[in-house]
Amino acid sequence: MITKTSFVVFALALTLNTVSAQEVKQYGQLKVTGTQLTDKHGKPVILRGMSFGWHNWWPRFYNQDAVKWLHRDWKCSVLRIAVGVEPHDAYLQNPAKAKEKIKAVVDQALKEGIYVIIDWHSHTIQLNQAKAFFSEMATLYGKHPNVIYEIFNEPEKNTWPEIKAYSTEVISAIRKIDKDNIILVGTPRWDQEIHIAADDPIQGQKNIMYTVHFYAATHGKWLRERSDYALKKGLPIFISECAGMEASGNGPVNSTEWNEWMNWADKNKVSRVIWSISDKKETCSVLYPTASSNGNWKDSDLTPWGTETRNMLRSYYK
Ligand code: MG
Repeated sequence: MITKTSFVVFALALTLNTVSAQEVKQYGQLKVTGTQLTDKHGKPVILRGMSFGWHNWWPRFYNQDAVKWLHRDWKCSVLRIAVGVEPHDAYLQNPAKAKEKIKAVVDQALKEGIYVIIDWHSHTIQLNQAKAFFSEMATLYGKHPNVIYEIFNEPEKNTWPEIKAYSTEVISAIRKIDKDNIILVGTPRWDQEIHIAADDPIQGQKNIMYTVHFYAATHGKWLRERSDYALKKGLPIFISECAGMEASGNGPVNSTEWNEWMNWADKNKVSRVIWSISDKKETCSVLYPTASSNGNWKDSDLTPWGTETRNMLRSYYK
């Protein structure tokens, strides 16, 4: 016979089991200790989560219910806002729309207690616009430990000295307002020349990390070796975008290489964010067009990449 007390205990256990952890409550203000992302006490932290697709092309998923679902069902401890910069109707043409989408996601991430990356999703240097943008973001959100700034998604043609000079200026604009939140710095050739940054890192700044992006069917062992080299030289790494197929976002997933990468990241306690919450007809979109804009996605709304990614993220919470 079930007593009243044991029923209450049972109901409470069920509730606890279905509500996700509030990582920001647990870890607080993140910092970089050596090469490691750590919590407020200096203990290692590994964040895992999803990147939204470019906000200008997939604005429909930038809302509070999708954030809630990605945290509670997909178990994301971090989400990435890909702020499109150069394309039609992206930030440079329509800053108001970009800020509205950023606000929707950040506000809900604060409520959920998860981390959120504001990513300047550019392939070229837009120094003055980036400085103004990140000064505004730091003013709005710098007091919240949840927020991480990614100041240059994927440099395409710029050399490391150019990226370094750009980053130094944007970092100092942010640090005038926000002294402590993590800042992610891009590396040359779509974030694959981490070894070059490792030979000539930015000096005199705290709480900055460098980004590696990989698409496992294109970027294999050679990029892990570059990343090993960088870690050995003391460079903190954050994988702010990755996926299992080719760099085009299409073609088959290379599961062997993908698993090698996940093992590498776990072994080295490196955080990772997966590309992407979008519904385009391509391998890297995790959703089909049938998916609602507001989460509550059924299994049939998930592409094979969506199913694999969700399973992987959830596997850390069993
Ligand atoms: Mg701060």
